[in-house]
Amino acid sequence: MPELPEVEVVRRGLERWVAHRTVGAVEVLHPRAVRRHLAGGEDFARSLSGHRIGVPSRRGKYMWLPLEDAGQAVLAHLGMSGQLLVQPHDAPDEKHLRIRMRFDDALGTELRFVDQRTFGGLSLHPVDAEGLPDVIAHIARDPLDPLFDDEVFHQALRRRRTTVKRALLDQSLISGVGNIYADEALWRARIHYERPTSGFTRPRTTELLGHVRDVMSEALDVGGTSFDSLYVNVNGESGYFDRSLDAYGREGLPCRRCGTPMRRRPWMNRSSYFCPRCQRPPRGVTPG
Ligand SMILES: [Zn+2]
Repeated sequence: MPELPEVEVVRRGLERWVAHRTVGAVEVLHPRAVRRHLAGGEDFARSLSGHRIGVPSRRGKYMWLPLEDAGQAVLAHLGMSGQLLVQPHDAPDEKHLRIRMRFDDALGTELRFVDQRTFGGLSLHPVDAEGLPDVIAHIARDPLDPLFDDEVFHQALRRRRTTVKRALLDQSLISGVGNIYADEALWRARIHYERPTSGFTRPRTTELLGHVRDVMSEALDVGGTSFDSLYVNVNGESGYFDRSLDAYGREGLPCRRCGTPMRRRPWMNRSSYFCPRCQRPPRGVTPG
């Protein structure tokens, strides 16, 4: 799954190439790509056509194209392999092209949703007063959002009877932090992933949030510099960035801080990577 920085790069690409254009003909080439739009592909196409697209928006890993004056937005689900590409009309269709969106202008490009595994798709939703699609109204702000409230997060963290990595992945507390960036931020903060959050002090929360933001911003800087073409991107499966990771995927390799071999442990159907020396387990958790 793409993480926040990848999605933000896609959003920026769409802002550059698609914002303020009026939708023309929409073609749905595979029904699965609009399965979240219950009224079906034809209705989806008809509902979009004629509307001007506003500035593409994002919250956490969710991204949408607002339709101006429609009170609705097109939510993009990239799933495992979904890509949004801006292509010239005469570019050959991709093998797994699912949706084509043309525009009512002479720029000569169209938006394509390409998805090999068809877990992703596009869907249309009413937006609330803040412009948020109704289906993601429960998603918390992400740590790069200027309106993210550190103090509210800290209080919620302490109240929640949970452990720190669960909290970082809880989209109702903080959005956009996935497994990879959680492991990276925890390694930087020298915090074990099973550490209970009830004992977190304000300075510790602040430090952790700082590392989360650094990790994401660094990834964004890398991704933000490598796209500058019509190819908006993004392949969520292979990982878009040339990530220089300190924790994730480094099982058995020496910790970049202390040299101790890094460990991997199964965690909620995924893995957690950590340094057993820098990130001491809390009492009652076996060091593994
Ligand atoms: Zn270490």
